[in-house]
Amino acid sequence: MITLGIESSCDETSVAIIEDGRKILANVIATQIPIHQKFGGVVPEIASRKHIINIMPVLDEALDKAQLKLKDIGQIAVAYGPGLVGALLVGVSAAKALAFSLGVPLLAVNHLEGHIFANFLSHRQLEPPFVSLVVSGGHTALVDMKGYNSFSMIGQTRDDAAGEAFDKVARLLGLPYPGGPQIDKLARQGNPEAIDFPRALMKDNNYEFSFSGLKSAVINYIHNAGQKNISINKADVAASFQKTVIDILVCKTIMAARSTGMKTIVLAGGVAANSQLEERLTEKCRQNDIDFYFPSKILCTDNAAMIACRGYYQSLTGKFADMNLNAVPYLELNDSYADDQ
Ligand code: ATP
Ligand code: MG
Ligand code: FE
Repeated sequence: MITLGIESSCDETSVAIIEDGRKILANVIATQIPIHQKFGGVVPEIASRKHIINIMPVLDEALDKAQLKLKDIGQIAVAYGPGLVGALLVGVSAAKALAFSLGVPLLAVNHLEGHIFANFLSHRQLEPPFVSLVVSGGHTALVDMKGYNSFSMIGQTRDDAAGEAFDKVARLLGLPYPGGPQIDKLARQGNPEAIDFPRALMKDNNYEFSFSGLKSAVINYIHNAGQKNISINKADVAASFQKTVIDILVCKTIMAARSTGMKTIVLAGGVAANSQLEERLTEKCRQNDIDFYFPSKILCTDNAAMIACRGYYQSLTGKFADMNLNAVPYLELNDSYADDQ
């Protein structure tokens, strides 16, 4: 089965073609990062317009790379939420038009489930059940994934997402958007023990996250130093902030695996690309006799291959979308189209 995936939820226009769920034939990603960089973050209206310009050339390039024609496509999977509504609508409209004109089934994919499924593309032997830590630009959640189509939320953030915290702290330090990779790099030169930032909700059996207090603590630290005319060591701030986030994520993820009895942990979302997070989870999982998986770098951030992979496994349930499909900007992680219909 050849599945074509479309992703346009934020600032990446991507089209991928995969075979039998796990083999990537093409995964073309047109990123808009340089365009949004000068605004310090994603400008929704610009993102939508760029998706409109990019979508057809990206589709053509994916078909070229896979050496296939449209008639070879067996089904179309599209991310229909969560994300920016105008951005999502470009992908959803393209997917509906393609499915209708080709007469093939349409699959409505939850973008966050897609992030988890990126792992199935990177690790052919990986199968559920497992606990997944989803850490992306807009979400932070621990998910109990019992099967390919069975998710339940263990806990999520009450306020900011981990990626959002990285981006905001980077901005405070004068680093360009997106801040995650910049903090990751700068932190290597800093002392992670230099500043003691607060760790919220670190009680036993609490699987919720909160990063807004940490963000405020960083703001206060920089503000206080400014008032006293003391120059701050940006690398120390980056390293201490990053260590705080990672301590929280690692502690709760290991606790969730223990409480659910799961022997496998799967990392997902853009922040999964963080080198220190990968290292620390690798070490902790080894100590606790837990198997640990994370996606290859390119599959951590937004891409259509993960959407196609999720769509493939969703198609096995026979739950397809129709021409009434709309974008759902605030779709929740366990609000799967496959569950609802
Ligand atoms: P969502 O998936 O929640 O809708 P999104 O699609 O915007 O949000 P992703 O593409 O999954 O988010 O990830 C982007 C986020 O990942 C950004 O916040 C970015 O700063 C962060 N990120 C990317 N690389 C790293 C890194 N090496 N370290 C930390 N954060 C990173
Ligand atoms: Mg992005
Ligand atoms: Fe994402």
